Amino acid sequence: MYIVMLGAPGAGKGTQAEILARETGLPHIASGDLFRQALERGTEEGLRAKTYMDKGELVPDEITISMILQRVDSPDCAEGCLLDGFPRTLPQAEALDRAFEQRGKDIDRAIYIQVPEEELVKRLSGRWLCRSCQTSYHVITSPPETPGKCDKCGGELYQRSDDKKETVQDRLRVFFAQTMPILDYYKKQSKLITVNGNLDIQGVAGEIISALQAPMSR
Ligand code: ADP
Ligand code: ADP
Ligand code: ZN
Repeated sequence: MYIVMLGAPGAGKGTQAEILARETGLPHIASGDLFRQALERGTEEGLRAKTYMDKGELVPDEITISMILQRVDSPDCAEGCLLDGFPRTLPQAEALDRAFEQRGKDIDRAIYIQVPEEELVKRLSGRWLCRSCQTSYHVITSPPETPGKCDKCGGELYQRSDDKKETVQDRLRVFFAQTMPILDYYKKQSKLITVNGNLDIQGVAGEIISALQAPMSR
């Protein structure tokens, strides 16, 4: 099963993809994590991506598409995967479909996690991430057991520099202008599931799991 997780920055794509990954055994592939890892390794791709990420802009499609397709072609994705943060533009969605067609694969579902803008801002301003395993925490809604330390792996927690207020506003604008149109793209293919993301983490997970179990009306 190939699933695309859609939602504004802070909607809970990463959090929910982790839960689904545990439930289904499918690998969780997050485009933002791939860019941040490339940057830590100091690759050319990572350094190019950084200039856009710092400004809250999207990394150009050609870089992003080739990075994701390379990842999706790895053997652990042969039976499916959870794509988090990709696609984010119409050309990315189209490129993914074309590539999948050539490989005899298909996207099964696109899950849109809908969250009001004020809530997104609150979530991003309190987000802390593990440097080693990328798990997200929140100072209020899901704090780690020991401050500053990851419950899962003991790794160091940090705040993303693009989660600062000014960049968050830019990222939200980019989402509404460039990513929202792909909701319609998946709707036309009868693949779109919209879930209420304004519940607690387990509540949203419940919505997603029951929506995935329900047959799609076509
Ligand atoms: P995204 O991957 O969509 O940017 P994350 O999964 O990183 O979003 O979540 C953003 C922040 O909001 C994190 O701090 C996370 O712990 C918190 N969070 C995620 N889901 C919820 C929820 N349902 N209710 C409250 N806080 C949440
Ligand atoms: P969030 O979890 O808050 O939605 P991500 O970690 O997914 O943020 O993305 C962080 C940044 O990485 C984006 O602001 C953008 O610069 C870049 N990025 C991630 N995915 C894509 C993509 N599919 N296309 C272009 N840029 C991307
Ligand atoms: Zn960790």
